Amino acid sequence: MNKMNIKKGDLVQVISGKDRGPAGSPTQGKVMRAMPAERKVVVEGVGMVKKSVKPNGANQQGGIVQQEAAIDASNVMLVCPSCGKATRVGHAKDDEGKTVRVCKKCGAKF
Ligand SMILES: [Zn+2]
Repeated sequence: MNKMNIKKGDLVQVISGKDRGPAGSPTQGKVMRAMPAERKVVVEGVGMVKKSVKPNGANQQGGIVQQEAAIDASNVMLVCPSCGKATRVGHAKDDEGKTVRVCKKCGAKF
């Protein structure tokens, strides 16, 4: 299985309508959490679900909060920071021999 190419802080495009959440939800968002072991990501504002919470220090009342659900990493595509398109990525070595990701559309390394 391929290694997950998505890291925290990446901008991604959600390609599965089911994971996007309610109509009108954004199709792009920033990765808040990457979980390579489960191959899941949490994307800001995407796939909002209602969750009931118990009262605690920060929220005395408890109740229902909206929270991003983890979605399958295969349902998102990385948005290239250089050309701004959702793209597949390859890997290459940069000048220092470090592995970097390469945009398959414009060839930018990041
Ligand atoms: Zn690109």
